[in-house]
Amino acid sequence: MEQKIERIKQAIKECYKKNAGGRVGGGICDSCNSPLSEGETYLCANQIWCESCTDKTLNADYIDWSKALKNINAYFGPGLPSYIQDIADDTENFTLRNASQTSLDWNELRISPSVSEDLGSCECCGNMRRYVSGFVSSSSLLTVATYFVSWTLNSPKHGADFDIIMVGKWEYKTIEMRQGVSLEYRVIEHHGSFRVIDSTQRPIIAAHLKNGGLALKQEEVVGQPIAQNVFALTSAVFMKDKRIQEIRQWS
Ligand SMILES: [Zn+2]
Ligand SMILES: [Zn+2]
Repeated sequence: MEQKIERIKQAIKECYKKNAGGRVGGGICDSCNSPLSEGETYLCANQIWCESCTDKTLNADYIDWSKALKNINAYFGPGLPSYIQDIADDTENFTLRNASQTSLDWNELRISPSVSEDLGSCECCGNMRRYVSGFVSSSSLLTVATYFVSWTLNSPKHGADFDIIMVGKWEYKTIEMRQGVSLEYRVIEHHGSFRVIDSTQRPIIAAHLKNGGLALKQEEVVGQPIAQNVFALTSAVFMKDKRIQEIRQWS
């Protein structure tokens, strides 16, 4: 119970922080009048608070948690996302399991490029190997995955590798929910196709899941409900990341 309440406090705090969006308003906390630092502001019921006031409020003795847990939004809201109530109701895991089966539409997914790096030349052909990474977000702007694409420039014969870490549909993500999936893209006679491979063999997946999460094997993806979302994420990356234009042109 204590642990659940701590998770809820943390989730509410994250929401308040997100709602404040770094805003400092008049520059001072509406509750204690101390100066606000950018990025450490919390919006609660139209008031901008400092972190210490937010913590004090969420940890206040007068909170009746037995009552609050029954209706988080009535107690702390309105406008808090439903996953916080799911934590309170112990239905979080149930909801998450179902959610991984909610289908993503690649057309609606957005790509935000992050790192792009050249890795040195390929031992066999001397061409430069390149790596790019980025985030995929849903239409509601929640990050649903991070991805990594690596390939050798001007070498369609080597194909390309796509590694994806799926983080689920919610802002409130536990590390254990992360799932790693790997695909190889191969081009034969100008025809390109993706194949799911064993992501437990991929060092980049292992590196990103070292604190928790599950690297999926081929049989855990192919023919499973998750395959549809893997396909949507891969299509979004393949079609929308401008940096991999070259790979698109191989086929
Ligand atoms: Zn304050
Ligand atoms: Zn080569």
